[in-house]
Amino acid sequence: MSGRGAFGVAAQVVPGLEAFPERTAVRARFHAADGTPFDDGLVTRYHAPRSYTGEDLVELSCHGGLLAPAQLLAALHAAGARPATPGEFTRRALLNGKLDLLQAEAVGDLIDATAPAQGKAALHQLEGGLSQRLLALREELLELLALLAYDIDFPEEDDGPVPLERLRDRLSGAATKVDRLLATAPAGQRLRDGALVVLAGRPNAGKSSLFNALLGISRSLVTEMPGTTRDTVEAASEVNGWPVRLADTAGLREAGERLERLGIEVSRRYVGAADLLLLCVEAGRFPAPEERGLLDERPALLVRTKADLVPVAERESEEGIPVSSLSGEGLDRLREAMADRLFGSPAGFAELEPMLTRERHRVALAGAAEALAAAVPQLGQDAVLAAHHVRAAVGALEAVIGLVHPDEVLGRVFERFCVGK
Ligand code: GDP
Repeated sequence: MSGRGAFGVAAQVVPGLEAFPERTAVRARFHAADGTPFDDGLVTRYHAPRSYTGEDLVELSCHGGLLAPAQLLAALHAAGARPATPGEFTRRALLNGKLDLLQAEAVGDLIDATAPAQGKAALHQLEGGLSQRLLALREELLELLALLAYDIDFPEEDDGPVPLERLRDRLSGAATKVDRLLATAPAGQRLRDGALVVLAGRPNAGKSSLFNALLGISRSLVTEMPGTTRDTVEAASEVNGWPVRLADTAGLREAGERLERLGIEVSRRYVGAADLLLLCVEAGRFPAPEERGLLDERPALLVRTKADLVPVAERESEEGIPVSSLSGEGLDRLREAMADRLFGSPAGFAELEPMLTRERHRVALAGAAEALAAAVPQLGQDAVLAAHHVRAAVGALEAVIGLVHPDEVLGRVFERFCVGK
């Protein structure tokens, strides 16, 4: 519970709370509105501003189950508390300067993470990796603005205006950094959302079996999601620590939706969106031209299914990764190949350079790149116009970090939070 009245409200449920030591879990009895005790739990007080939200904050831990939590909520509501809206705690932390907007987003990403690599990236962003990078960039641009201002104010100075080369170098240096960050957007978004891996192949090639085999051990992490197409099964999972959305479009019934004339089952729409195709061709069967065509169209791995049916000697020279969903043979190798194709060498990613993980970041940084490009031809021509463009780039960076946060940006960031964080 957070807010100015938090201690007073909590004291009605936990008498004597005001005297409890700060930032220490204290065992206490919880009382209903009529004074009857209903549970024995732990209470921790955090004084503003030393709390997650920056406000007075109380954490109450009751026993689990149905009754005690319900009674605790009822008692707190009766004492004057109200339920938090989604993301409200983090929103307050942001408004009180505890977090910037990127860090607030990272809290949401950490909560939503299903794969270890996602968690790691979110934690890095929570620690301020991307924020620091953008703040440094903003600082560089502000220095450039100062040089431009000098040019504007004292164009006829004896020692001459700021050398043009110096302005050019600064501008192109900043533009290069913006471009480098922009280049991280595809990987960053893929890491946050999970890479889309689509199974394709002829009927009975073993797609559904492979789908289940790949999900097998991580089934507990899987959330079944309604696909965009009827009868499409899509499951969020992880492959060697990396987030993947696996899609099996085999059950398609609408002829227009599948590549039926080619005899290959996969939704056209899914092929277009796929980060990686797993083309299933039975071991021992030569891939047909249309199957080859699909391999060339998107990043793809050729999977030789039902490998257990063909003696090793016969499939030794075969292209692709032999896999048996039945025996499990080759699944590890396939997983490794998938992780490698989708996310590159794990060692490179382990460094986890700050990345742009959302469309919001990409759009703003693209705007900054455009503004800096527009400033270039104005150098040495019109310092006022050049400064105008550089200022626009600064504004774009500030919007990403949240140094300026119009309500609509906040609304969009927090609407997807779970209640209570
Ligand atoms: P889909 O139509 O491409 O989804 O193919 P299914 O996964 O439904 O498999 C078609 C048939 O091949 C089923 O009878 C499966 O039991 C069989 N099958 C799939 N994978 C394997 C495998 O690895 N080994 C063997 N022996 N049979 C398999």
